[in-house]
Amino acid sequence: MFRGPLLDLYAPFHCIPAETGHALKQQDRVPAACNPCERSVAWYIVCITDKQCMVGHEDSSLLRHGRYSGNSGACLPGPENAHRERDMLLKNATIATFSGTGYGLIENGAILTDGPLIGRLGNEQDVARSAPAGAEVMDCRGRLVTPGLVDCHTHAVHAGNRVREFEIRLEGGSYEAISKVGGGILSTVASVRQASVEELVAASLPRVMKLMSEGVTTIEIKSGYGLDTENEIKMLRAAQLVAERTGVRIHKTFLGAHAVAPEFAGRSDEYIDKVCREMLPAAHERDLVDSVDGFVEGIAFSAQQMKRVFTVAERLELPVRLHAEQLSHAGGTEMAVRHGALSVDHLEHIDEHDVLALSGSGTVAVLLPGAFYFLKQTRSPPVELLRQHGIPIAVATDCNPGSSPLSSMLMALNMSCMLFGLTPREALAGATVNGARALGMQDRIGRLAPGMEADLVLWNARDPAELSYHMGLNPCHRIMIRGNWQESPVPTCDPIEQTRPDRSGHPPEAG
Ligand SMILES: [Zn+2]
Repeated sequence: MFRGPLLDLYAPFHCIPAETGHALKQQDRVPAACNPCERSVAWYIVCITDKQCMVGHEDSSLLRHGRYSGNSGACLPGPENAHRERDMLLKNATIATFSGTGYGLIENGAILTDGPLIGRLGNEQDVARSAPAGAEVMDCRGRLVTPGLVDCHTHAVHAGNRVREFEIRLEGGSYEAISKVGGGILSTVASVRQASVEELVAASLPRVMKLMSEGVTTIEIKSGYGLDTENEIKMLRAAQLVAERTGVRIHKTFLGAHAVAPEFAGRSDEYIDKVCREMLPAAHERDLVDSVDGFVEGIAFSAQQMKRVFTVAERLELPVRLHAEQLSHAGGTEMAVRHGALSVDHLEHIDEHDVLALSGSGTVAVLLPGAFYFLKQTRSPPVELLRQHGIPIAVATDCNPGSSPLSSMLMALNMSCMLFGLTPREALAGATVNGARALGMQDRIGRLAPGMEADLVLWNARDPAELSYHMGLNPCHRIMIRGNWQESPVPTCDPIEQTRPDRSGHPPEAG
């Protein structure tokens, strides 16, 4: 087999050491061969860091569409499984498109990919007729195909855990006992500040891979445990690295206004000044922010303070979202809607006035049953009222160490049905079409239709309601992101993921 002069092509699409002394440049082109198809092709060097380069097929859609052209210094996502030579024809499928009403079901359906996009979709005979001769055909054997799941609210990048405070709480320990072991959100801040970016990535990968193994193809990841410029940026960089190493689609959210930084204890206005003047602009300047979030609550910030952060976000042309009315009615929802928020999240304490504000605004109500469950809350979001007013509802894990250590989107679906009374169709819409809308990505992902990105899941199931029904069974068969099958990742716990309790005695808080 022909081998390129520079690259070990037995590992195509891996990061490969460029160690020959030849100074490779971005978009360099070298002749080489492809391991899976064993034919000589031209390859591009897509990106190069100090020690690594990344290659791709010249005719690969990943390059053809130039999705990474502006991402210098970063590697293409996806290891060897990102190899894709031909368009795929998925036939004999039961497709829940989420286009139109209900599930938008197509029985005996087929999907034809066109590079990273969906080319055609519909009745099997019609689609098969239009497939190019070289298309790779896959018989789905009647399996259910859905859009890739979207987990639109996570804090999946963090270090340490809060297992001590969990145990003390269940042993009937006091608030003081939890404070003594350094429990609370600021203990996670201490762990994150101590971790290097690589340690953060290593700690986060098992959570992200677990989500992917259950059909999640897009994950929103927030900062918010750094609480200073350097560490907020570090968290967002870690989120970006997680995307590059797993191939999952990531939406990065700046959450500097999550809690008052310990250095600013008792001076929350001054901390908000720093968020507005320094932290958010610095993260934005590095192209690390897709949206801006905050926490309006008695234990965090007032709606008035958050308004200042949102005003800066508007000036930077960044969309906003908000943790609102989780533990009390603090007035965040109305303010967020006035700022055109993509979503307001939690909402256990919203009232009819808030729902009227949401009505027709386009802002998505994101429900987080994991936090409701873990905090043993008793007041659930007014789902019937949201329904009556036609508010789009999304469901997410809120994966975080303090109030929702949940890395299972399927469990979140089940919980949203059992704890909040969503129907299985509403729950799945909340993890697809409405999850995408909560990230402002509804024109690209969340539905299956021609022209949308080919992010989809093949399930060992026939009925879409099964995805909300099982507890602990994972029917995910395969996931496809941007037209490429991803190998089902096996999550492993990394030894770096150790508790590093902060002993400063910070009070426990949610989040
Ligand atoms: Zn959250």
